[in-house]
Amino acid sequence: MNLILLGPPGAGKGTQALKICKSFNLTHISTGDLLRDETKSESELGNQIKSIVESGNLVSNEIILKILKKFIDGNNNQNGFLFDGFPRNKEQSLLLNKLMNEINFKLDGVIMLDVNKDLLLDRILKRKKDEGRADDNEEVLQNRLRIYLEETQPLIEIYENENLLIKIDGVGEINQVNQRINTRLESL
Ligand code: ADP
Repeated sequence: MNLILLGPPGAGKGTQALKICKSFNLTHISTGDLLRDETKSESELGNQIKSIVESGNLVSNEIILKILKKFIDGNNNQNGFLFDGFPRNKEQSLLLNKLMNEINFKLDGVIMLDVNKDLLLDRILKRKKDEGRADDNEEVLQNRLRIYLEETQPLIEIYENENLLIKIDGVGEINQVNQRINTRLESL
């Protein structure tokens, strides 16, 4: 099974991704995590990525494709992948289709975690205290949210038209949200 996890920053994608991967034996691919790993390596590419991520803008599709391919080549899980934070715009969704074709995989569902804007801000400012991510501050968050609405949200309609959308209420206890997801995935 191959899934995409979609949702605004702070919706809880990372938390739910780990649980879904554990339950369904999928490999977690978080482009955000892969980018943060690359910046820690302090390579030239890493330094370039760092300033973009810290401003809340999107890293170029070319860089994303490069790090994704590298990860997929090194992680051959025939059981499937969960893409978290990718695709984030229309061009990336086309790149994903191409990538999946190349490895003979098909997309089974797109989970959309739905959370209202006020709650997102609360959650992210709390996460800043726990994790110290440089892009978790109010100003950068507004930029991330704006980009989400402009570039990522339109994907919801595309996947809805392809009958792949699984819309989940992301408000509630972590385990409660996870249960909602599992119930829908079990009936796929
Ligand atoms: P969140 O979903 O909370 O914004 P992520 O960890 O998914 O957090 O992403 C953090 C940042 O990494 C984004 O704001 C963006 O700069 C960059 N990023 C992650 N995934 C992508 C992607 N698919 N395309 C472009 N940039 C990305």
